[in-house]
Amino acid sequence: MDLFEKYESNVRGYIRSFPTIFVKAQNATMWDHTGKTYIDFFGGAGSLNYGHNDPAIKRAIIEYIERDGVTNALDKATDAKYHFIEKLQNTILKPRGLDYKIQFVGPTGTNAVETALKLARKVKQRSKIVAFTNAYHGHTLGALAVTGNEFYHDDYYGVPLNVTKMPFDNYFDSENQMDSIDMMRHYYEDASSGYEVPAGIIVETIQGEGGINIASVEWLKKLEKMCRDLDILLIVDDIQMGNGRTGNFFSFERAGIKPDIVTVSKSIGTGLPMAIVLMRPEIDQWSPGEHTGTFRGNSLAFVAGAKALERWDNDTFSKEILAKGAKVEQRMKAIAARFPQHIGDVRGLGMIWGIESPVEGFCGQISREGFERGLIAETAGATDQVIKFLAPLTISEAELDKGLDILEASITAAAA
Ligand code: PMP
Repeated sequence: MDLFEKYESNVRGYIRSFPTIFVKAQNATMWDHTGKTYIDFFGGAGSLNYGHNDPAIKRAIIEYIERDGVTNALDKATDAKYHFIEKLQNTILKPRGLDYKIQFVGPTGTNAVETALKLARKVKQRSKIVAFTNAYHGHTLGALAVTGNEFYHDDYYGVPLNVTKMPFDNYFDSENQMDSIDMMRHYYEDASSGYEVPAGIIVETIQGEGGINIASVEWLKKLEKMCRDLDILLIVDDIQMGNGRTGNFFSFERAGIKPDIVTVSKSIGTGLPMAIVLMRPEIDQWSPGEHTGTFRGNSLAFVAGAKALERWDNDTFSKEILAKGAKVEQRMKAIAARFPQHIGDVRGLGMIWGIESPVEGFCGQISREGFERGLIAETAGATDQVIKFLAPLTISEAELDKGLDILEASITAAAA
């Protein structure tokens, strides 16, 4: 029996997309048990923006373990945690004029989403939340309630929450000359409409799992203005698009907006579990012990995260991200021009890109062809109609060129 089949036989009932055993990884290259290498365009779904095993991060973790630092401190104060907080405050928040309080909420992004939803309701003493079509916020019941893709839903889950889904920034009602924000304002401003004003609106500035759908700056500004005017909390889920993915540390910087609550996870711990909620100080209304969890104090993630934030001490990293992103855009658009029947759109920003195909199953085929040739690339979108580029931001030029060459060869093979 093949090693992969042996390991998998007791696991679950469906086939993995990448059927091999990975044994090693450095920056954007992965090795499997046969010694074959793969360029990683998936980047741990956005949790590996700083690459696999960055030498400085690795050294910091090893040193912390060697000096017997506390590994899990829950909510207790540790030097690892305070160093991380200081770094986040001084390098990221203060220079951007953001006076957020920081809440450590658990290991996964979903924990941050659940926290944000509870907090918005508690603070506003209203239960309605608005989310958007094609949004992805997680798989637990609360986060699922604000997740748009019907594939993840089943009536029997009994998703309990009072959530309204509105169209994302791709919708315009030409008869009434309204986009989804106009529609919300229209109803919420009219008490006789019977529409309850929500406690909060949760949005991704670019929908990652939903298929790289980019909200325009105007739409985001308009959303923020409506939230201000109608006393609604604006929650930006920056779990996938934050940590530099778009070129700025936070994805909402592009629109010049200031959310009331921000969810951050994935690369904030450089691939080690950490999720945080950032909130305007007056929103922090928890009583002690009211919203807790065991894994809020993962010191290895704090040590690694603090080291990673050093990349933001100046604007070099941001410039690097934009330069590499420009190369991805240029190559992807050149590839798309070769396959007009198979590729409908190429879209992205910074280092998040997607190639959309109108041909059913085409992107899944690209992913499989890529795997054969040494590329890890996943699909996105409600019907897997997009192939997604989410490589580590630290990917080397050589890795990037190699990955893009394999992507082109894989698209050529899939189209044949
Ligand atoms: N929000 C967004 C925008 C995400 O992309 C994800 C994960 N893909 C989540 C929330 C959930 O995070 P996690 O899987 O770490 O719970």
